[in-house]
Amino acid sequence: MTAALGRAAAITDPGRRRRQNEDAYVREPPLFAVADGMGGAQAGEIASRLAAAAVRQSGDGGAAEGQERVVSLIREANRRVYERANEDEAVSGMGTTMTVALVDDGAVWIGHVGDSRAYLIRDGALEQLTEDHSLVAELVRSGKLSPEEAEIHPQRSVITRALGTEPDVDVDAFPVRTQPGDLFMLCSDGLTSMVADDSILEIVERTREDLDRSARALVDEANRGGGEDNITVVLFELVEGEAPVEEAAVTEAGEPTGPTPETPDPGAEVARHGAGPGGRAAALLLVAAVLVVGAIVLYWGITR
Ligand code: MN
Repeated sequence: MTAALGRAAAITDPGRRRRQNEDAYVREPPLFAVADGMGGAQAGEIASRLAAAAVRQSGDGGAAEGQERVVSLIREANRRVYERANEDEAVSGMGTTMTVALVDDGAVWIGHVGDSRAYLIRDGALEQLTEDHSLVAELVRSGKLSPEEAEIHPQRSVITRALGTEPDVDVDAFPVRTQPGDLFMLCSDGLTSMVADDSILEIVERTREDLDRSARALVDEANRGGGEDNITVVLFELVEGEAPVEEAAVTEAGEPTGPTPETPDPGAEVARHGAGPGGRAAALLLVAAVLVVGAIVLYWGITR
């Protein structure tokens, strides 16, 4: 079964502790991205916006597809941030994370650099698709730190790979085979450092009828947890086949697609009428059979 792109939602919020929002997002179906900038003054903001703009302006990718396209647009974003950082003393040393998702031909291609993440919500479970390029994630992977220790580590926001700090960048890219009902989430660490995975899943499952509400509820929860960083959430779902978005939304909202007792659809009505005479004929046949058998039994009893 093929899956097509359905509804999408995106939101960014400065959080409760920071005056500026250094996060940026792209919502240009079938292309989605999250970028989380870093650097003094307004440099982080410039870096994430430059990277997001590069993705937005990448067009249809020409001949590039899937992995090739995802990697090339992140590398182009890197070049733009790097060039600006070298031209302008005020933003020297700036950088940004970037996590990109491209829905292409039955797969979602993920490309990423840094600690913004991609998740998949499928069959009631939340799966983190990306591996953070961060100091603590590397220590966890090498067994030097437990995931619990990583969560409260003072250097947990230190990333080991970013866009804009080198002329070229190593991009992690991979495909995810899709199925109808899949919900993908891209987010900055302002969400995941404030809200545990099981809470993210619970919130999304509870609000999924309205993806804008899901995104808002996730931001609210991060702010309730302290809102110490900027928070960005991008959600998009896959629906059956080539179904138009409107139809999919109605189904997702719980509208019945089949007949209900109050408003039977014409097809069901026809079927019921069709069954009527047939049913009566069967009942008459049964009565006739009983009468015939009874008569035979009676005759047999009399004549014996
Ligand atoms: Mn952040």
